[in-house]
Amino acid sequence: AIYLDYQATTPCDPRVVEEMLPYFSNLFGNAHSEHALGQQASIGVENARQQVADLLGVTPSEIVFTSGATEANNIAIQGTVRYLLKQGATARRVITIVSEHKSVLEVVNSLAELGIEIVTLPVNREGIVDQENLRKSLEIPTLLVSVMAANNETSVLQPITRLAQLAHEYRALFHCDMAQIIGKTVDRFSMEYIDLASISGHKFYGPKGIGTLYVRRKPRVRVSPLFYGGYQERGLRSGTLPVPLIVGLGKACEIVQREGPQEALRLQHYKNQLLQALQSEFPRIQVNGSIENSLPGSINLYFPGIRALDLFKRIPHLYLSTGSACTISSLVPSYVLTAMGISAEQAVQSFRLSFGRMTKNTQVKQVINALTCAYGELMAGR
Ligand code: PMP
Repeated sequence: AIYLDYQATTPCDPRVVEEMLPYFSNLFGNAHSEHALGQQASIGVENARQQVADLLGVTPSEIVFTSGATEANNIAIQGTVRYLLKQGATARRVITIVSEHKSVLEVVNSLAELGIEIVTLPVNREGIVDQENLRKSLEIPTLLVSVMAANNETSVLQPITRLAQLAHEYRALFHCDMAQIIGKTVDRFSMEYIDLASISGHKFYGPKGIGTLYVRRKPRVRVSPLFYGGYQERGLRSGTLPVPLIVGLGKACEIVQREGPQEALRLQHYKNQLLQALQSEFPRIQVNGSIENSLPGSINLYFPGIRALDLFKRIPHLYLSTGSACTISSLVPSYVLTAMGISAEQAVQSFRLSFGRMTKNTQVKQVINALTCAYGELMAGR
């Protein structure tokens, strides 16, 4: 079998597992205990916090450990809005975009209860939001703008620095769901205008159930907690720290900081190879969303005439998904694709594919062969 679903999740890198293991047994202490065992756990946690901060180019005190990007998105969006309202802010608007992950869209929608006006900006055919559109929406006082760095279905990248700069021009905070982009790009991702950012360990060869919320300290961004307890993580995220997971996340960050750019180049090469081969065999095969502005190793493909699920049945040894599988039935056309102006028919004939760390050079040819054979046969049998 060949795994091609790295947007859904990734395997833990063996180096990450190795780093975590002692913290399940010998070094099992509570990182907040005073004794030596607690102190050893605390050293593991603070070392990991430094590794996450180094990857982002921020300071460790700006890093809050959460259970993943879903929780980080919840704290970032609900927490800042609740805090600002409590402080008497008069703005009532929150802006996001239509192709966000559900863990942003649903949180933003929930703010209606607090009397917040929700603006969901469209994206163009390429999957990208229009900057002038954002500027116009910001003319009405806005608390927060939340836009993802890379989409989980199309891998399309948004012009985050520019959007965040715009938000600041209008005195709005900017949150970025970075779950899909960490460790996946050749160039370092700039945090310059970003106030809050969400990260998830299992998207870049770390463990599941751990993530990070970045909260800017200069100037300080304040966030109300969503739940209360023992005041861990400066009160923003109470609960005993999951030390093994945190240590694993830190190691995953260290690895992608060192190897990420090289890896991205290798995967970019695989993607180009795949696309070239598919399109030379079947010129009607298309890419959904921008190719230039997308993650190097990932792609969303349209195979005209054949439902993605029927294609998958022919090649069960290729682990592929439509992208909508994580939230809704794959038979329902993806809201991310339809928001780009893609018809429902085209959307169900589309799927995402991603290469990752464990993909071998020889597998690319196998993937090309399997896809072209299956598609050719299905088209011939229609
Ligand atoms: N945001 C995006 C863009 C994602 O792709 C995902 C994972 N599907 C999440 C948030 C949720 O992350 P987690 O699994 O860590 O809650």
